[in-house]
Amino acid sequence: MEIEGRRKTNTATEKDDRLLHESPRQNTDSSKASLERAHEELLAIQAKLSSQARELRKCRSEVSQLRLNRGRYNDLFLSAPIGFLLVDRFQQILSVNSKAAEFLGSSSTCLAQTLLPLYVVPDCRKALSLKLERACRGEAGDIQVRMLSGGRTVSTSLRLNPVKDHKQTGFLCQVSIVTISENRASEMQLKNARDYLHHLATHDALTDLSNRREFYDSLEASLSYARRNAKKLAVIMLDLDRFKFVNDSLGHEVGDELLIEVARRLKQKVKTGDTVARLGGDEFSIIIKEVTSETALDNVTESIRQIMSIPFKLKRQEVSISASIGVCQYPVDSVHKKDLLKYADAALYKSKSRGGNCVQVFSNNLRLKLESRVQMESDLRCGIQDDDFDTWFQPVHKLESGNIVGLEALVRWRHPRQGLIAPAAFIGLAEDCGVIEKLGKVILEQSCANLVSLHAHGFNTLSLSINVSSHQLQRDILVRQVADVLNATGLDPKLLEIELTEAVLFNEPGVSKLCLSELKAIGVKLVVDNFGVGFSSFNKLRRLPISKIKIDQSFVSGVPFDPDACSIVKAIVSIAQDLGIAVVSEGVETTAQLNFLTDVGCDLAQGFLLSNPVCATAIESTLVNNRAAKP
Ligand code: C2E
Ligand code: MG
Repeated sequence: MEIEGRRKTNTATEKDDRLLHESPRQNTDSSKASLERAHEELLAIQAKLSSQARELRKCRSEVSQLRLNRGRYNDLFLSAPIGFLLVDRFQQILSVNSKAAEFLGSSSTCLAQTLLPLYVVPDCRKALSLKLERACRGEAGDIQVRMLSGGRTVSTSLRLNPVKDHKQTGFLCQVSIVTISENRASEMQLKNARDYLHHLATHDALTDLSNRREFYDSLEASLSYARRNAKKLAVIMLDLDRFKFVNDSLGHEVGDELLIEVARRLKQKVKTGDTVARLGGDEFSIIIKEVTSETALDNVTESIRQIMSIPFKLKRQEVSISASIGVCQYPVDSVHKKDLLKYADAALYKSKSRGGNCVQVFSNNLRLKLESRVQMESDLRCGIQDDDFDTWFQPVHKLESGNIVGLEALVRWRHPRQGLIAPAAFIGLAEDCGVIEKLGKVILEQSCANLVSLHAHGFNTLSLSINVSSHQLQRDILVRQVADVLNATGLDPKLLEIELTEAVLFNEPGVSKLCLSELKAIGVKLVVDNFGVGFSSFNKLRRLPISKIKIDQSFVSGVPFDPDACSIVKAIVSIAQDLGIAVVSEGVETTAQLNFLTDVGCDLAQGFLLSNPVCATAIESTLVNNRAAKP
């Protein structure tokens, strides 16, 4: 208005100026025009004023409508035929209606500022608190609880509705109370019991995360959501590094406590709707239902890796651990559930082989490796069926005389396209894909049949040692296989030795002492292979029925020039002899090594210097030559 006034004053001055310089006729015309303009301006101002007045009237009516609504809401709230309460995020009662106050046997003033969970029976308090917490985060819910109503307990069904607080930033919770009849209450209890059973069947008892079954169902559901909405999804596999060490050294109780904490940290790192599952042992998996970008996914996996390497403060001690993480994505890596699980696993495996504490994203390179592994696996199965495995033999010499006194059976694969393959390239795979028992049986039968034939050709004191993997020992099938082969061939059990590595004997959880004792009872001997690398002690050895140890090549290769290797080998030979255990040195390649071993009193040796491993058809002539070379 002020500006408007100033403008008018300016216009009047301009007008006076003009009048001084214009003729009388001109003066009349121009004052007419000015009057018209002023009239128009007046009309515009009037229109503006009346529109503002309309606005004001509208606002006033809205405010009074709001007041009316609020009043009506308050009336409804206060006089509703069912109990209503308003609770804040601290679970304190802010207001109650008369029905609720009457039900709780108190006045609204007395009830104000008290905690709602105090009005339910103690058993139900925790569950109600959790539901209230959720409601104050915006999540509506229902719960059946027994409430304390004027000295009685009454079964009720509570509906928890989030309502915006007055600042519109957080939520309060509006609770409605409906009492339920005893019949209905027992129906509810039945439903609760069913829900509980369902929860038990789908959750891990230790961590309360989804279990493997629930994880598969969630993946299925998340995949169909991603398909319908054209979203990306990620499957993360996680495995704790050195968990076995924690379990073994600090005990299972600490291990369990650690797993519970790991689960808690993982849950913190995902959004509602994502799934965190414990698949077993220290193996966890996460489904990220919606991947918004590569960077977002990288941030999640990296933050999981980081949070796992923060020391865990457990009840009695602090434990430091790290995690290996593998990730793959739908639909980039695959659209199939089975593939996604396989690819995330492959990525995890790769992350482990990189030394752990890292995130490995599934890549094309990994896909190629996986495909070649799958091909090898199928070749392996065909190879066993087609009899493509041969047993080769490396002689074991008595150092005192140089005579061959035994043979070690070493498997070779005649691969149809790749030629002869050494065991290091396929034993692990055979273990992983569950064909090691079949392969082990083939080697056992072949090598025993060869030994029997050699015995028949005059080498009847020759012994045979066979390498056995941990998987063969875990299932107790080995004892039956050995017994069967001894029966079938008529071989003297004393001449058969089973070689097991230290790791298998002392670290593998499933290796049963019973199995070892049964083998001993059959009459076969037990040999510890690669002795010295697996941190076993003679004390542990004494408790097992062991008759021979094989010093690992890594020590033998150090003698006679590395003083540490010399001391270790000397000590092993001396203690083993005191305990009545024979010692074989593996991987003898030089005369200097041979002389050192002979000097320290080692009983037996094998290695390229003495004889290479040879195929079954060549072993007889090796034996004949050895015998002929003796005076
Ligand atoms: P191992 O039981 O320690 O066998 C000795 C390995 O050392 C053999 O390798 C042998 O060829 C090699 N070797 C022998 N003399 C020398 C030497 O002077 N210098 C060096 N550098 N090496 C020598 P191979 O045949 O490749 O076998 C590797 C491993 O595969 C074996 O180690 C054993 O653990 C496993 N293996 C072999 N055959 C079988 C089998 O039938 N079943 C199972 N479960 N494992 C087997
Ligand atoms: Mg061996």
